[in-house]
Amino acid sequence: FARHVTILVRGDDFSCAKAVADKAREHEKITVLTNTSVEEVSGQNGLDYIRYRNSKTGEVTEFRAKEGESFGVFVFAGYAPETSLVEGVAELNEQGYIVTDRSQKTNVEGLYAAGDVCIKPLRQVVTAVGDGALAATELERYAAAKQTRTGLFPKKPQVAAPQSQLASEEDSIFDSATLAQLDAVFARMESPLELRLYLSDDEVSSELRQYMEALAARTDKLSVKVTDEPEENRPCVRLFRPDGTYTGLAFHGVPGGHEFTSFVLGLYNAAGSGQSIDEELERAARAIAKPLDMKVLVSLSCTMCPELVTAAQKIASLNDRVTAEVYDLNHFPALQKQYKVMSVPCLILNNKEVSFGKKNLAQLLELIAEKTGS
Ligand SMILES: Cc1cc2nc3c(=O)[nH]c(=O)nc-3n(C[C@H](O)[C@H](O)[C@H](O)COP(=O)(O)OP(=O)(O)OC[C@H]3O[C@@H](n4cnc5c(N)ncnc54)[C@H](O)[C@@H]3O)c2cc1C
Repeated sequence: FARHVTILVRGDDFSCAKAVADKAREHEKITVLTNTSVEEVSGQNGLDYIRYRNSKTGEVTEFRAKEGESFGVFVFAGYAPETSLVEGVAELNEQGYIVTDRSQKTNVEGLYAAGDVCIKPLRQVVTAVGDGALAATELERYAAAKQTRTGLFPKKPQVAAPQSQLASEEDSIFDSATLAQLDAVFARMESPLELRLYLSDDEVSSELRQYMEALAARTDKLSVKVTDEPEENRPCVRLFRPDGTYTGLAFHGVPGGHEFTSFVLGLYNAAGSGQSIDEELERAARAIAKPLDMKVLVSLSCTMCPELVTAAQKIASLNDRVTAEVYDLNHFPALQKQYKVMSVPCLILNNKEVSFGKKNLAQLLELIAEKTGS
């Protein structure tokens, strides 16, 4: 996929298996530079400048991409185990990994650890799964011994009977668990919303229509209207208030995958009362004084995207000068090209300021203030 890859290694050599390292070293499109650290990367709509230094010779190298071209930097700088949960409870080694014996038992009675958080020579799925199986078996044995000793046996969990008021899975494109969550959100929506659809004669449009009609069939607080108003990026659904004003929230494509939850949260935020947020952040969102158009480019499989989408939509729901329109990049390759998008989420402010990466509400408000002075 790449024309050329340069691997910068901070140490004397790779720390991975020799066989893997040799493959990289022998590859004609890969250059390996050891004892090298990145000092700076920069660029406008993508990276086009990098400066790195050889820590042994002190030699500094600058690389600039050709006019109109850019490159990517993929950082791998090591791991830090997330073991704060058991800090001060179980024994950890100097790097913070959990100390266990061969049966995954920690130094604490009844506490077992498995997977990447443990001290071990190979951190891979296969060893994590093995640890998990061993820990679970040992834990079961431990619990059984306790039960025999104390004569106390926990009650068997009961399977809850399905709630009759929910539509069966055959009646809806959503499963019953999702329908239950939707009902909870719809019950809290304070005012109705119109789902205004901008469709074309294609499959994605009919999928969007089917999706929105299935949502509206679930509550009288949502209605669907297909419009022939102009719209360049179809299909699209925009949320309108009962008085016909635009809420500023829209999704281009079909809000499935990881974007389904953000879309439903968007409905809740647009209809009120919406998610409660820190008072200071709410004040900052309401204080944005100039018109602000936010485009959030996402992919439905991106786990980092929903946080930014929800933050942008929350601001739009609080401030009529702000719009937050989300695009499933998969269906809008022209936008990908126009903004040289190399990763998602990608945020575009007023069709001008492009930034990448996940952001929470506070970080987004900070970025807006910095880039737009609002
Ligand atoms: C970039 C990358 C590529 C990899 N490629 C491969 C590969 O090709 N093949 C392979 O076999 N292995 C690969 N691995 C390693 C593999 O992903 C791990 O070894 C494996 O996922 C470890 O499983 P785990 O269950 O121990 O931890 P994880 O998969 O990390 O799961 C731990 C979970 O616990 C959650 N968590 C953390 N703290 C808390 C808390 N306080 N409360 C509740 N939940 C919490 C985390 O969010 C996470 O979901 C790769 C790893 C990385 C980073």
